[in-house]
Amino acid sequence: MKVFSQCDEVREHIKFCKAKQETIALVPTMGHLHNGHTSLVNLAKSKATHVLVSIFVNPIQFNEINDYERYPRTLESDLEILRTLNVDTVFIPKQNELYPHGTSLAAKIIIPELTDIFEGVYRPGHFDGVCTVVSKLFNIVSPHAAIFGQKDYQQLLVIQRLVEDLNYDIEVLSGDTIRETDGLAMSSRNSYLSASERDQAALIFKMLTNTKDQFSINHIEKLESTATCTLGKHGFEVEYFSIRDALNLQPISQATENIVVLTAAWLGNTRLIDNLLFPMT
Ligand code: AMP
Repeated sequence: MKVFSQCDEVREHIKFCKAKQETIALVPTMGHLHNGHTSLVNLAKSKATHVLVSIFVNPIQFNEINDYERYPRTLESDLEILRTLNVDTVFIPKQNELYPHGTSLAAKIIIPELTDIFEGVYRPGHFDGVCTVVSKLFNIVSPHAAIFGQKDYQQLLVIQRLVEDLNYDIEVLSGDTIRETDGLAMSSRNSYLSASERDQAALIFKMLTNTKDQFSINHIEKLESTATCTLGKHGFEVEYFSIRDALNLQPISQATENIVVLTAAWLGNTRLIDNLLFPMT
């Protein structure tokens, strides 16, 4: 497994691999790897001959400095996991190479509208940071495919839009959300939960599945408010719990084919997000 931290080195290496007719799949991560990440790596392996995983805790996508500073950084064990998975290349960019003029003067990629709702409301500037760093990784690595998790469903739609709008010749692939046995979506931030919060956290998936099971086009608001209320009663501070068209996160309409139920909620000092997709019947 090759490990690079300099943009030039990784660029050269990928050029060399492409000359040997290798196909490249990029899996961008912020590290502290779990089975959600490894499932994306396995998907990447099934789609390309060369898998490159990037690890970078991107400062400009954090809207709170505390959140950035306390984000778990476990590079050595991450590298061990990636070695076990036989990943070909790991790219751990240096901040001063990605942001040569500093983060506050960085050029930014902004996708209108889709980034103004849900996560965009509660984490202003978050998606500008995500789109900017993902564009940088695309420019440096120029992969044939890039893999993102459905766990961050709005992010997945935003990246698909980014690829279309900036004419990247990159196939965006999505991996299913990997869950703990009680349904909690795996996340690097789950390590912040206390033992009792960890038990409580499974309620999110329960409310998502209840909403799916009880879905009726005539009861959307009622389902949203019941779930919000139930989570609230169990100690969650819900930012949104919403039933939307999975294509564009707009309200359900006659044209809706697939539905996504999206939620973000605080449990103590931990912000959890999750979603569930299902077809309109
Ligand atoms: P992160 O390291 O949190 O930035 O996540 C890197 C990638 O892993 C993103 O595309 C996430 O959507 C994806 N991911 C995070 N958690 C999960 C999960 N539980 N299942 C599948 N993919 C995930």
